[in-house]
Amino acid sequence: MFVDKAIIKVKAGNGGDGAVSFHREKYVAAGGPDGGDGGRGGSIVFQPDDGMNTLSDFRYQRKYTAPNGGNGAANRCFGRGGEDCIIKVPRGTLIYDNETGRLMADMSGDEPFVAAKGGRGGWGNSHFATATRQVPRFSKPGVPGEEYELRLELKLLADVGLVGFPNVGKSTLISVVSEAKPEIANYHFTTITPVLGVVRPLPGVSFVMADIPGVIEGASEGVGLGHAFLRHVERCRLLVHVVDVAGSEGRDPLADFDTINEELEKFNPELASRPMIVAGNKCDLATDEQLATFEAAMKERGYEYFPLMAPIAHGTDELAKRCAALLSQLPPIRRFEAEPEVLPTVEELRDRSVQITNRDGVYFVEAQWLFRVMRGIRFDDPDGLQYFERVLQGAGVIDALIAAGCHEGDTVSIYDFEFDFVE
Ligand code: GDP
Ligand code: MG
Repeated sequence: MFVDKAIIKVKAGNGGDGAVSFHREKYVAAGGPDGGDGGRGGSIVFQPDDGMNTLSDFRYQRKYTAPNGGNGAANRCFGRGGEDCIIKVPRGTLIYDNETGRLMADMSGDEPFVAAKGGRGGWGNSHFATATRQVPRFSKPGVPGEEYELRLELKLLADVGLVGFPNVGKSTLISVVSEAKPEIANYHFTTITPVLGVVRPLPGVSFVMADIPGVIEGASEGVGLGHAFLRHVERCRLLVHVVDVAGSEGRDPLADFDTINEELEKFNPELASRPMIVAGNKCDLATDEQLATFEAAMKERGYEYFPLMAPIAHGTDELAKRCAALLSQLPPIRRFEAEPEVLPTVEELRDRSVQITNRDGVYFVEAQWLFRVMRGIRFDDPDGLQYFERVLQGAGVIDALIAAGCHEGDTVSIYDFEFDFVE
């Protein structure tokens, strides 16, 4: 079974807690605070891997957790950082936030993607020593790691996609022009996972070809296997439509050709305008009349046409070279833009409750909803900061701080964020 969708849960590591400790040494009377900071929690990081072309690993492992950071210790010892949890995915995997449907990343490039950030370690009590607070008996807890339910969807990356009815010779073709070795057999749906192969028609020229399992009539409505695979054609820059010109299974090659094109168009109208060339395969089995009729029909419709006998590599070289030439003039493979997180409006956040703990004049604010909102805020951006201020006002956090006794100049600590309170 070919798996190209998966839903998984990821949880980054929590930051370690800061330590509360005081320096002790013989003959040193009142040692100062020396509690070290907690370590950062490990993040959940996705990495594209060219050795993979399905998401089947994710059928069995659905939960990924990165380790927490270590707690701080005495003597200003920092907690150990949690190691990142690296999740390998096939190139072309799209990562969505399953709760909101937001596209978080398209794993088409080489860059890793941090899907869930590990929590920052909490400060040890040594950070909280001031002239007026010389014996801070508290530290900061670690920030929780981010957590997501993610939907992974594979949209393979290939320059050329082979489309056509089952059994027309697509797998044979890719096995002849590339190093890929798909199963080839004389029955339908031998190919049940797309296969990628690198084609090198000329020195220094290469492209990726995908053998997409046979598209059949009704595929766009989910009949047969085809539907699941049409998605993988969407990003191909060029389609090679393979046809059995001999109609060796008793079908009419021209009718086949039209059927497949209709299916492609129904699935995604954009596909109908994707550049396409036609490979008439099984020429050895066709009569001269069949060959002439089909070729004339293709010419009439304006398609470039290549007669093939795939198993003996007849015509395949010309086809591969022509693909390379066409590709050099086509736009690059389509990448999807990650969508920004849609932050709730301040209206939507009216009158939320938060938990406030006053430790010696440092006010710690906690609330699950606030943590989630902060996850989406860019604090390095003035707009992000402004929004955060409005949220604190609008949701009643500032009022709650005042009610808890927070005064001008006190420190407010909200997860990753600290500021001095201003009335
Ligand atoms: P796919 O389902 O489109 O991938 O088709 P395959 O590549 O698996 O081929 C289906 C069958 O057709 C296999 O038995 C192949 O050996 C055979 N075949 C493929 N190309 C040709 C050809 O040009 N001539 C003949 N006679 N048989 C072919
Ligand atoms: Mg096949």
